[in-house]
Amino acid sequence: MNPSLLDRRFATIGRHSPLFYDQPIELVSASGVWLTAADGTRYLDAYNNVPHVGHSHPRVVEALRAQAATLNIHTRYLNDRVVAYAEDLLSRFEEGLDRVLFANSGSEANEIAFRLAAQHTGATGVLVTDWSYHGNTRLLAGITTGLRTFEGLDPNVRAFPVPDLDDAANRERAEADVLAEALAAVDRAIEQLLEHGYGMSAVILETIFSTEGLPRVPEGYVQGIAERVRAAGGLVIADEVQAGLGRTGQRLWGYQRHGLLPDLVTLGKPMGNGHPLAAVITTDELLEEFGSRNEFFNTFAGNPVSSAVGHEVLRIMDDERLVERAARLGAEVRRDFDALTARYDRLGPTKGDGLFFGFGVFGDAARRIPDATTTKRIVEGIKARGVLLSRIGPHGNVLKIRPPLAIEDEHLPQLLGAIRASIDEALD
Ligand code: PMP
Repeated sequence: MNPSLLDRRFATIGRHSPLFYDQPIELVSASGVWLTAADGTRYLDAYNNVPHVGHSHPRVVEALRAQAATLNIHTRYLNDRVVAYAEDLLSRFEEGLDRVLFANSGSEANEIAFRLAAQHTGATGVLVTDWSYHGNTRLLAGITTGLRTFEGLDPNVRAFPVPDLDDAANRERAEADVLAEALAAVDRAIEQLLEHGYGMSAVILETIFSTEGLPRVPEGYVQGIAERVRAAGGLVIADEVQAGLGRTGQRLWGYQRHGLLPDLVTLGKPMGNGHPLAAVITTDELLEEFGSRNEFFNTFAGNPVSSAVGHEVLRIMDDERLVERAARLGAEVRRDFDALTARYDRLGPTKGDGLFFGFGVFGDAARRIPDATTTKRIVEGIKARGVLLSRIGPHGNVLKIRPPLAIEDEHLPQLLGAIRASIDEALD
C-alpha cells in the first residue's frame, strides 16, 4: 500500500507541525471564500485572515504574475514598485508614522520593532500580555506566553494579565475598578523591570487581543498601558498582524479602536494575501537611529513582486470597499450571534469587532468554567457542515470566527447555519 499523504508529511516535515482537525483536510484549490478538498468537498473559510481579499484573487494573481515575468530583484537597486507601494501604505497611517521597513513575516517585523525600540531607549525591559504570541525568532520565543517554548520567558520580560469585563469575576464589578486593578498590574510589572535594571524598552500589544481570546477590555485600558510605558521611557508596539488592514471594520488599524497612536506598528499575514509580506511602520527618528547604527539588509523584503502584490491588495480593498463591508457584515453577523448566545446559558456573549468574532463555551453556566472539549466538538461539527473555523484563548474555549474580508451577504446563511446547528447539537 502506498503511504498516505499524512504519513509522508510525518516522514518529512515531522509530527510537530500543527494540523487542524481529528481528520486533517487535504486542500487542493481555493477561490474567494471557498476551499476545495481533495475529495471534492467545498468548505467555507471562516478562519483565515491571510487571504484577506479572497483566495486566489484574480487581480492579486495577475499582479504577481506580471511582475514576476518582468523583474524581481532586491532593494539594492532602485525600483519604483517598492517606493510606490511604500507611499500608498504610509498614506494610510497617521502623520508621524511615515517610514516603513519591509519584512517577510510577522515574526521578522516584530523582531525588528524590538531592535528599534531597544536602540532608541537604551533599555531591554519588555512587557507582554500573559497569553500572547508575536512570532518565532529567538527574541520572540523569549516573550511568548501563549504557546509552549523551550526558552520560556527571558529575564528581561514581564507578563501581565488582560482583564475581560465578561469574566464571571468581573461581571458584577464597576468597569472603573476592573480598569484600576488591571493597570495596577501593569505598574507592578514596570516597577519590576526598573528595579532589576532592565529599564523599559517596549510593550507589545495585539490590539484586538486575539490570542488572549478576544477579551472585552475596559475603556481606556490600552491608552492606560501606553501612558505608563511611555512614562517609564518605553515605546509602544502595536502588533497588527491579526487586527490590521480593516479586520475590525470601519477603521484600517486595530489600535485606532483604542484611540492609541503607537510608536511602532507591525504588519503581516493579510498584507500579501498569502504572499510572504510584512512591515514595520515607524517614525523618521526611530528609523534614522536604527540606520545610523546598523548595516541592515534583507534580501527578499521589498522586492518588486512582493511590492506589486501588497500594492494590489490595498487597491482591491479600496475598489471593493472591503473595510466598510467588514463593518456592515460584522454588525449583521454579530446580531445573529447575540441571538444565538442568548439562547444558551453555557455560551458567553459575542466578543471581537468587525469581522473577527468569538464567544466562549462553558461547562458550568453560573461559574463560567471553560469547556474546551465541547468547544472542540462544536468546531468539528461546524467542519462537518462545510465551514472551517477554530478556537482560541488560554482555555481553548472561545470560538474563533475570522473569515476573509471577501465574505459576502450570500455566504452568511451557511456560516450561521453551520454554527447554529453544531451548537444546537452539542448543547441542546
Ligand atoms: N503576531 C501575531 C499577532 C500573530 O498572530 C502572528 C502569527 N500567528 C505573528 C505575529 C507571527 O507572524 P508570522 O507567522 O508571519 O511570523
